[in-house]
Amino acid sequence: MVDNRNTCSQCGEQSIIKGDIVLKTSKSNDLIMVVRQDHGVEKSVPLRPSVCCQCGFVDFYVQDPTNLKISSEDKPINPDFKQRPILESDF
Ligand SMILES: [Zn+2]
Repeated sequence: MVDNRNTCSQCGEQSIIKGDIVLKTSKSNDLIMVVRQDHGVEKSVPLRPSVCCQCGFVDFYVQDPTNLKISSEDKPINPDFKQRPILESDF
């Protein structure tokens, strides 16, 4: 895979602003996270923006996408979590 993180996917210029740019919510100043909730397992990784200084296009990527994979070692955060029963309408 070609690393095109410095190339704007909107205008094609190699004009992505270097350095750390983070998104913060105005209320809590928490990082914006990508959260994946499968089978009661919650996994989250920080969502990182890249900003083009030519056209202002903002792109997003996650820093460590492999962290979002659900594995058998992941424990449900809610011990009462049960999988939704299969309903007739699912067929
Ligand atoms: Zn651009």
